Amino acid sequence: MTTATSAPTPLSRRTARAHAADQPYPYPPPRDFVEPDWRRLPGYRDVTEADWLSAKWQRQHTVKNLDQLLKVYEDLIPVDLVDSIKRDQAERATMSMLVPPQMLNTMGETDLWRDPIRRYMIPAFADRDPEWPSHPLASRDSLHEADMWAVEGLTHRYPTKVLAELLSTCPQYCGHCTRMDLVGNNVPQVVKYRFEMKQKERYAAILDYLRATPSVRDVVVSGGDIANLPIGHLVDFISAMLDIENIRDIRLATKGLMGLPQHFLQDDVLAGLETIARKAVDRDVDLAVHTHVNHANNLTPLVADVVKKLHSMGFRDVRNQGVLMRGVNDSQRDLLDLCFALLDHAKVMPYYFYMCDMIPNSEHWRLSVDEAQGLQHSIMGYMPGFATPRIVCDVPFVGKRWVHQVEEYDRVKGISYWTKNYRTGIEFGDPDALNRRYEYHDPIYTLPPEGRDYWWRHGSDHTPPATVWA
Ligand code: SF4
Repeated sequence: MTTATSAPTPLSRRTARAHAADQPYPYPPPRDFVEPDWRRLPGYRDVTEADWLSAKWQRQHTVKNLDQLLKVYEDLIPVDLVDSIKRDQAERATMSMLVPPQMLNTMGETDLWRDPIRRYMIPAFADRDPEWPSHPLASRDSLHEADMWAVEGLTHRYPTKVLAELLSTCPQYCGHCTRMDLVGNNVPQVVKYRFEMKQKERYAAILDYLRATPSVRDVVVSGGDIANLPIGHLVDFISAMLDIENIRDIRLATKGLMGLPQHFLQDDVLAGLETIARKAVDRDVDLAVHTHVNHANNLTPLVADVVKKLHSMGFRDVRNQGVLMRGVNDSQRDLLDLCFALLDHAKVMPYYFYMCDMIPNSEHWRLSVDEAQGLQHSIMGYMPGFATPRIVCDVPFVGKRWVHQVEEYDRVKGISYWTKNYRTGIEFGDPDALNRRYEYHDPIYTLPPEGRDYWWRHGSDHTPPATVWA
């Protein structure tokens, strides 16, 4: 006898029920991507479009002092803010004032006290921390880049990559500049280091070192800012590097891409960049631009125009390395607004956010490692993984560490401990370099009362806060 087998019961259909949910960060951000009209500012009322688009005009009208700033904003800038900036320049600032009209035009003139770009480009005395403007362990050249020079201006910190500082000027000076030791003009608080070698000899020595060091494959070409290097000098230097067999990655660092995009839209600059881009493609070397944008308001269509041209020339990528700063971009919304503006409008890859370094008078900008970890968590999952920036702590004598890599963390004293897996260029004879723990310090005002008390009692055991960082 045969038994009829019954057909398997079909699985019940699953009901699709997912839909876009309300999120802590609503996408898309309600933000127009337009060039702000500069004619709304009293000082630029009569500036023509031709002048605005001229790099020469922008450089000639870059604001270098308070009088010039007042002429731009007139009575839009509060008197108490002017007084506070003046006091800051005399008593706290580590960088001189230098802000191109392009950047001034991205500040919100209706509330300059709270404007995020004003807060990092034109700091005021009242912005700074009143008790500890500097951490007791803050120092000029806090990353010890000069200690790791293989040639004057060539920092060899990582195993396969180096940093070449070609010049010590920029088209704009940021208040929080980590290279305040070297970059820019002397200010009352800081006498700057000056390169001693002649530029031509220094460049030749850098190229010789790269030729003689096959373990180096990657060069960050920085400064200062390459937007201040005559394009012919940049083309000659990069072209010579492209002839070195071991160099496989070159990254050109410029905040000027955002601060003065007009520079990169000049015919001779475009032609020079195209020359090196074509050669890089022929040589199979990845040539990229790294820029430094800290707030979405800084991004305008002119910046996007430059990026589009760079991509069409053969630049592999344009990436952003912002700096995480309180009052500038210290919220999920600030960071994601910036990342989406970079991705959606400018085709710039969000890459890193650095924690602000322990330079003098930077405490009010700095966040604790704990806060940085919270912000990293808050931005995960919104962007494609390849475009989700890592928040990194640049630990002295270590290098960039992702904020979740911390080995141990004393949250009372605000001391985080970090390890590393390679030797810097000056640790070849140090048997403990890979076993040692390296410290980073949270801002004191973020600590609990017992931690703040510790630093009041022991802060002076360390280098006392200097008044002049000579
Ligand atoms: S552009 Fe870079 S190097 Fe120049 S002042 Fe700003 S942070 Fe410093």
